[in-house]
Amino acid sequence: MPLALYCAERGLSVVVIEKNASWGRGQNRAAIGGIRATHSDPAKIRICQESIRIVSGLEAERGIDVEWRAGGYLFVAYDERRESAFRDLLAIQKEAGLGIDWIGPERVAELCPGIRKDGLRGGTFSPGDGYASPLMTSTAFHRLARAAGAEFRFGETVVAMKAEGGRVVSVRTDAGEYAAGAVVNAAGSDAAELGGLLDLDLPVHPDCHEAGVTEPCERFMEPMLVDIRPDEESGNYYFYQTTTGQVVFCITPKPQIWGKDTDATSSFLPLVSRRMTELYPRLKNLKVRRTWRGMYPMTPDGLPIVGYPREYSNLLLAVGMCGQGFMLGPGLGKILASAIVDGPGVAPQLFEELSLYRKFEGMELLK
Ligand SMILES: Cc1cc2nc3c(=O)[nH]c(=O)nc-3n(C[C@H](O)[C@H](O)[C@H](O)COP(=O)(O)OP(=O)(O)OC[C@H]3O[C@@H](n4cnc5c(N)ncnc54)[C@H](O)[C@@H]3O)c2cc1C
Repeated sequence: MPLALYCAERGLSVVVIEKNASWGRGQNRAAIGGIRATHSDPAKIRICQESIRIVSGLEAERGIDVEWRAGGYLFVAYDERRESAFRDLLAIQKEAGLGIDWIGPERVAELCPGIRKDGLRGGTFSPGDGYASPLMTSTAFHRLARAAGAEFRFGETVVAMKAEGGRVVSVRTDAGEYAAGAVVNAAGSDAAELGGLLDLDLPVHPDCHEAGVTEPCERFMEPMLVDIRPDEESGNYYFYQTTTGQVVFCITPKPQIWGKDTDATSSFLPLVSRRMTELYPRLKNLKVRRTWRGMYPMTPDGLPIVGYPREYSNLLLAVGMCGQGFMLGPGLGKILASAIVDGPGVAPQLFEELSLYRKFEGMELLK
């Protein structure tokens, strides 16, 4: 949606082909709404700084409320290992221009009253990060993109692409065929299948994650709280209180669950509620309203794949957003619209760091 908006605003003729019946119904609707520039990778930091500028300005600049709140992100540490990992990252993060610092246990408890203090060493806090409603944000971008002239073909599935002389010349759907000067694969967890239509091997694999939301209550905590400690059955978990008072939460299952089954499980809620109430006992008073399951379009190193494949000079890949597509989308959309109009030279480092041809070694620490 943001890419469609910025391409239309740059004067391009834009068609968005979406197999669902409306916007924001892919994995965007599974996202819980976190938007942070706090990452360990410089490319992601830069993209998300742009996203924060865009989303935090939507109300003042475009008159659209998306329930943005700069509540900050707080990564808590209860052991020496986590503390030193967070402290080590501060150097890269500060160099990239992030407003982030280490805060002690007292400040953590002020931001999150009632958090378990036993063993708490502190954490890194980035007050410029925040959260917004994914449904309201995708609706805002859809509205703005339409007003800027983008056309939307909902309920149409891309089934084939035709290439000639190293360029994609047309895209066929189950309802028609579209010629195009530039084509973008932004198919989320279906990105590999779409790449397969052109014999491209894109390492994007759907990785299932569940989330839930409680009833609303009076606001009592500001930041998105992230605990990256793993236990036997899970990896990190994170939660925040929305501007309207509900607590939304998520956990990384262990082992990871690959595939496209999006039926909610009966194991998620007992697991996540145990971990959340251990960290934040007062949460035990809240009733959970609903849980759901969606997919991270995962890459082997936890970073997106952005750029042009060697075989097709006009096929832009914007895939593999992992667990951060909502926060990457607005900034990346703006940068990629400039790249389409002015050429990839507008962001050379970003295209290099997120290239399809990188080694995919390691794993982003704050994925
Ligand atoms: C539980 C959970 C919590 C999350 N929380 C956050 C969060 O707090 N912050 C965050 O930034 N991210 C979060 N994410 C991750 C985020 O949801 C994804 O990274 C993001 O939605 C991916 O965006 P996308 O645009 O690449 O894909 P999508 O939003 O899935 O959009 C891709 C679209 O392509 C369409 N499509 C695919 N194939 C075709 C075809 N052949 N023809 C036509 N249309 C097609 C799909 O229908 C879909 O609508 C979370 C994910 C989950 C599961």
